[in-house]
Amino acid sequence: MAEAAHPNRAEALISKYFDIKSQLQLPGACASGWVCQYSPRFCSGYKPIVSLRLDSKLPDVGTTIFSVMSGLAAQHQALNLSQGYPDFDGPEALLDRVTHYMTHGFNQYPPMIGVDSLRHAVSDKVADLYGAQVDGDTEVTISAGATEALFCAIAAVVRPGDEVIVFDPAYDSYAPVVALQGGHTIHIPLSAPDFQIDWNQVAAKVSDKTRLIIINTPHNPTGAVCGEADIAALRELAQKHNFYILADEVYEHIVFDGQAHLSMCRYPDLYERSFVVSSFGKTYHVTGWKVGYCVAPPDLSAEFRRIHQFVNFTVNTPVQLGLADFLNTHPQHHRQLPDFYQRKRDYFLGQLQGSKFTWQPSAGTYFQLLDYSALSAAQDVELAKRWTEQLKLASIPVSVFYEDRSCAPKSLLRFCFAKDDATLARAGEILCSL
Ligand code: PMP
Ligand code: GLN
Repeated sequence: MAEAAHPNRAEALISKYFDIKSQLQLPGACASGWVCQYSPRFCSGYKPIVSLRLDSKLPDVGTTIFSVMSGLAAQHQALNLSQGYPDFDGPEALLDRVTHYMTHGFNQYPPMIGVDSLRHAVSDKVADLYGAQVDGDTEVTISAGATEALFCAIAAVVRPGDEVIVFDPAYDSYAPVVALQGGHTIHIPLSAPDFQIDWNQVAAKVSDKTRLIIINTPHNPTGAVCGEADIAALRELAQKHNFYILADEVYEHIVFDGQAHLSMCRYPDLYERSFVVSSFGKTYHVTGWKVGYCVAPPDLSAEFRRIHQFVNFTVNTPVQLGLADFLNTHPQHHRQLPDFYQRKRDYFLGQLQGSKFTWQPSAGTYFQLLDYSALSAAQDVELAKRWTEQLKLASIPVSVFYEDRSCAPKSLLRFCFAKDDATLARAGEILCSL
């Protein structure tokens, strides 16, 4: 009997190769002579032959807002200031080094924890910027972007029933990973316009069940940064409670107006309980390479690596080697990054003078929030979609990052200013026309 003769070939193949006919509830012969769960009259379409129902571990999780808005921007040929990535390339010297390694035989597995030269370049940078001596062999692990590092750090410490504190609007990958470990996310909302952490609320929520606090500074999507008062409050809590800290510092080199980035690496008492995560994608304008790292004390790194070796095992060789060379030879790149992006922020905001939007200049990251309440009473998700379709300008609605939407600011959209000036000028024109 020819397989192609079956009206539903996929179904026929399942039945043939997995020999599951006997398990069928309603076997019957279809027109083609195959055993089929549908009578000849109804045998059409791609209905599965076995009624296995997969109960999702993440039933409430849909497609990320970044994919949704970038997809919509592409569909409507809109200027895409939604998903956070530059529309310019990484430094030529970096691309040259990666190309060099790729074309000179460095294309096999590197060590599981990352290549030696990159791990040590990271530990040198941490010493230079934050005055901390971290061991490149036992405390630095190269990961597949910050995303993988966040996953491994959460999986390393969170057990079923544990509580994890996050601050809303929270980056969207944290809560699902906590849920996969059987943990519970406790959401503490931050309020517009400055989105500072209310440490009294944190103190009220921390308990013996608190296993992890996730601190994201500079903060996506608001651009807020932690100051010394935040660190002091965190230290005080850490003296009383045994939680770990996951510091998402992917925008560590994008802090403005002369402020310092307060990395957890600076504070030995906080570092001893921290996983500090960063991303080369943000710093070197190469988000698509998906290479990041985690710095953590040896015992925490050991546990992190136990998981990393089975999630990703390791990260591609030529990019790691190229990044290591570039870090060693061009430290001015990350040192000058705050000025580079501050100029872009100011250029973008300059284009908005005279518009009906209001804002607080972003303190860090390459995102700027704009308040549109003088222009529309629409809900942010609806407006972001409408403006992508009609104005051909895509942004990210902020309310989607709140667990409790009633705590979300009502009229804020996030715009990414990691763009060429011409792109920012065009976006400014569109926004000023409203
Ligand atoms: N954390 C935050 C706050 C981010 O904004 C991002 C992505 N831009 C990530 C983590 C993930 O970084 P990566 O692309 O290196 O995985
Ligand atoms: N972090 C990026 C942003 O905030 C998006 C990354 C992603 O799409 N996963 O826009």
